[in-house]
Amino acid sequence: MVHGYKGVKFQNWARTYGCCPEMYYQPTSVEEVREVLALARQQNKRVKVVGGGHSPSDIACTDGFMIHMGKMNRVLQVDTEKKQVTVEAGILLSDLHPQLGKHGLALSNLGAVSDVTAGGVIGSGTHNTGIKHGILPTLVVALTLLTADGTILECSESSNAEVFQAARVHLGCLGVILTITLQCVPQFHLQEISFPSTLDEVLDNLDSHLKKSEYFRFLWFPHSENVSVIYQDHTNKPPSSSANWFWDYAIGFYLLEFLLWISSFLPGLVGWINRFFFWLLFTRKRESSNLSHEIFTYECRFKQHVQDWAIPREKTKEALLELKAVLETHPKMVAHFPVEVRFTRGDDILLSPCFQRDSCYMNIIMYRPYGKDIPRLDYWLAYETIMKKVGGRPHWAKAHNCTRKDFEKMYPAFTKFCAIREKLDPTGMFLNAYLEKVFY
Ligand SMILES: Cc1cc2nc3c(=O)[nH]c(=O)nc-3n(C[C@H](O)[C@H](O)[C@H](O)COP(=O)(O)OP(=O)(O)OC[C@H]3O[C@@H](n4cnc5c(N)ncnc54)[C@H](O)[C@@H]3O)c2cc1C
Repeated sequence: MVHGYKGVKFQNWARTYGCCPEMYYQPTSVEEVREVLALARQQNKRVKVVGGGHSPSDIACTDGFMIHMGKMNRVLQVDTEKKQVTVEAGILLSDLHPQLGKHGLALSNLGAVSDVTAGGVIGSGTHNTGIKHGILPTLVVALTLLTADGTILECSESSNAEVFQAARVHLGCLGVILTITLQCVPQFHLQEISFPSTLDEVLDNLDSHLKKSEYFRFLWFPHSENVSVIYQDHTNKPPSSSANWFWDYAIGFYLLEFLLWISSFLPGLVGWINRFFFWLLFTRKRESSNLSHEIFTYECRFKQHVQDWAIPREKTKEALLELKAVLETHPKMVAHFPVEVRFTRGDDILLSPCFQRDSCYMNIIMYRPYGKDIPRLDYWLAYETIMKKVGGRPHWAKAHNCTRKDFEKMYPAFTKFCAIREKLDPTGMFLNAYLEKVFY
């Protein structure tokens, strides 16, 4: 019999959203998950499955039953010939990397952190960069889904293909993802080279940067022309690191957090902070190399608010220059650094922000120095207005103000996804406040 806990508080990683689920479960088997769903059906309760709790929005919150997948985290099968791995959906990617490494395998791309689960990554459409690479859910070749009525669906291109096309970015609203099979590649090393540039140079030469580096991205420092370009590419070089405690922690974290806190009283300082920290930390060329997952991921030290929309790749320059112009004409509007700009290949996943188009993701942030929120609504609104104007689609994990009407315009396959969801979950067992805004 599965044991439930009362009085558990859930908070996301950034501590920007939280909830008090009525009951909290940590099942260890499919049977226990089924038991929770049966109880929910009997008592007419809603259910939310949570993975690593890293989504910076309320997408993983509920006041009903919460199922935490942390104990369903095994590697079930490794097919070294096909280079595929089947895992339970609650596995953290940080636990998966060493297990793949034992078989000489790795994932071809990763987001910035690995404390996220396989189920969560495909819940919200996690992405990184690399115009020849899709978002992480494009690595999924099969999955199993436990639906509201207790049925298990095996989904792939050849079995329940329509559900598969929906479930690779599922928002947690189709059922409980139990297992996922991921396409891997042979283990590889990456070299990272970062160097300073300007916004005009990068925007004028985007195609050339995209050709030069497999995993190209750049960081723009708002209230300035400054850009840090980051190239990541396959290498045979031995591991090396340019990490330095003094610069990375003492300056890049402790001093920065203190100055950002001071700037919460003197917002005019933010432009200066952005330029000063670029000069301090980003004007030198830096190089490092290591196993791919060590280079793809980095330590995110700051709790922060974020928005991250995917826009058609060809709109990158227009959108960034417009954001820059808005900040210049509204000197009271402040923007923390960096604006991170990444690129991904288009795909055919119904609710993927990159559905049918190569995309540019433009991630804006506002830090929370010592947990303090800094006013951001004007900046957020200006950004969202530009993103909508250029045909953007928001990242599902990150806060946005869109509702069903917006999504119907943004996603050609939105009604198809809704029909699949309504068929699999007719009573809305897997909905929460976030998803109601999406679907109603
Ligand atoms: C520091 C930091 C860095 C980040 N970097 C990036 C980045 O580089 N790129 C990027 O795209 N995103 C990034 N994100 C966002 C992150 O990748 C997503 O929020 C991802 O969904 C988190 O995975 P999770 O396991 O924590 O999922 P959760 O937040 O726990 O859940 C996400 C969604 O998936 C659902 N879900 C989870 N598991 C299951 C399951 N087994 N069955 C059914 N539903 C399930 C949940 O209900 C919810 O709807 C970052 C977040 C943080 C905090």
